[in-house]
Amino acid sequence: MKLKMQAPRLLRNILAQIAESEVRYQRAPHSVSLIAASKSQSIEKIRNLYLAGQGSFGENYLQEALTKIEQLTDCDIEWHFIGLVQRNKTRKIAEHFSWVQSVDDETIAKRLNDQRPVSLPPLNVCIEVNIDRELTKSGVMPELLLPLLDYCVTLPRLSVRGLMAIPLTTDIPQQQSLSFQALHTLWKHCKAHMGDRGEHFDTLSMGMSADFNEAIKEGATMVRIGTALFGERK
Ligand SMILES: *Cc1c(COP(=O)(O)O)cnc(C)c1O
Repeated sequence: MKLKMQAPRLLRNILAQIAESEVRYQRAPHSVSLIAASKSQSIEKIRNLYLAGQGSFGENYLQEALTKIEQLTDCDIEWHFIGLVQRNKTRKIAEHFSWVQSVDDETIAKRLNDQRPVSLPPLNVCIEVNIDRELTKSGVMPELLLPLLDYCVTLPRLSVRGLMAIPLTTDIPQQQSLSFQALHTLWKHCKAHMGDRGEHFDTLSMGMSADFNEAIKEGATMVRIGTALFGERK
């Protein structure tokens, strides 16, 4: 019972913070949407959050996600794939998700496009950018972003929605802000570059539990929040 009480409270708290940041940083009301990052969280917790009004969830690991999706078919959840996309897993991802936020190369984009079922609308994708050029991190390097973007917009079964990044982990707030600003600048550059081809390009996905208010300040339209919404991962 305690758990059922807790889900709405944490959700209300996060939604209130998002709304407050929209006001504080002169962002339009409701211009920032919330993705609940539910990796390694239980099906019960996801269901409770859904029943409390949260509609979009992000998962990182395909097998874990498929189990959850199967057991939550009675909930009208919009599923986002936010983890590393392995080539041999693209078909299931194209079949079961509404969004993939972590596209970072042409092969992955092409496979998702070709494998998206005709019965479904085009797959929404964000291109993941390795904004701080970390060797261990996925995401396209900034100088390779425009060619990848140009390629993705030619794929009819993809709807190119925007950019996603996970900045360098740091305790220095200024560094964090610079990463978010750099991504926002790239986003504006992409938007201008695409012109008419970018009519659906409206998403800047950045900010997690520790830094989402900062991300909203710097222009995020989508924040992906896990631990602050669910509690610690098991
Ligand atoms: C886990 C994860 C998050 C959420 O992280 P928290 O710090 O728990 O909020 C957001 N984005 C991605 C891509 C993740 O893997």
